[in-house]
Amino acid sequence: MSQFVVADAIVSIISSPLVTPFRIATGQHDELENVFLCLRTTDGVCGYGEAAVATHITGETIPGTLANLERIAAALKGCTVEDPEALCRELAPSLKGNHAALAALEMAILDITCRIQGIPLYQYFPPATDKGNKFTFNTDITIVIGSVEEARTATAQYSAQGFTTFKIKVGKDEAIDLERVLAVREIAPQSELILDANMGFNAARMLAFLDQLDQHGARPVLLEQPVPKYDWEGLSTITKALEGSETLVCADESVGSLSDAKRAIDTGAVSAINIKTMKSGLFEGAEIARLAARNNIPLMLGAMMESALSITASAHMAAGLGCIDYADLDTTFFIKGELSHSPYLDNTGKFELVGAAPGIGVEPKF
Ligand SMILES: [Mg+2]
Repeated sequence: MSQFVVADAIVSIISSPLVTPFRIATGQHDELENVFLCLRTTDGVCGYGEAAVATHITGETIPGTLANLERIAAALKGCTVEDPEALCRELAPSLKGNHAALAALEMAILDITCRIQGIPLYQYFPPATDKGNKFTFNTDITIVIGSVEEARTATAQYSAQGFTTFKIKVGKDEAIDLERVLAVREIAPQSELILDANMGFNAARMLAFLDQLDQHGARPVLLEQPVPKYDWEGLSTITKALEGSETLVCADESVGSLSDAKRAIDTGAVSAINIKTMKSGLFEGAEIARLAARNNIPLMLGAMMESALSITASAHMAAGLGCIDYADLDTTFFIKGELSHSPYLDNTGKFELVGAAPGIGVEPKF
């Protein structure tokens, strides 16, 4: 039995400096500033959750997330939790528009549930296909928006460290972007390239950009969110144009919920989907993964600017579901200090979940 009573709930803002600003087409993070939730049961078991707030992407704010989680924390004190998923689904509507807070709540509740049951979190997410679990996998590493020289330096460093998949942020300046992609290709010629435009192109410009890359033999395996969130027509145009090619067209900003995922799959607007706990929570994220897997849609599991706590929670999801083709769980490499340490992630970007401790397995100090 994993029934428990919440004795205490603490909400706090945590922050950490970054190694380098995390720049994308629509803005940047200069530091990690997130909201943590700690729940403690009457038996003294603690569970932790993290809300990664990306105001320039989702419009959510630190004060709003803090207030929402403080409200939830107050409501949870003294509450008996019998069915973790039912409880989270019941509270979800009161966190509408603040999916990061929902993710933190679900993470903390599931962390406790799994600790009480003595199982690692991945066991809560059974395999989505007959391929079973996938306990060992590598994350890509992001080359943030910046100069050609910065792209060169970062690629050389990460390549030496052992990374083999580079996710290059583009969509800010096409001429520089082209040079940056070619620089990564030149420095790490055997690597896989992923491009993430974060909505920075329109369909025609994106296809022209890919043509230029083709001419230099630098074709990406996956192209993420080339056009604005609601430009489904643009996504469809690009997907049709790339049909049969080696490049998947992946929705990120366009798919934040199960209904968005249904639309993306039913219309064939994209050929891959990026799931993030911060967009849809853990339960709905897993539902999206199962829906996509049933429809043979490749999946990326990504993250906002998350510390080791929530990155590790996502790694458990990926390991359990076993249907994640592209892990984009690299933000700990951009964070300085304690919050960057996941016990299941090594310096080369390899996650190894075999033998993981009960729960998420991360004990944040805050
Ligand atoms: Mg993205």
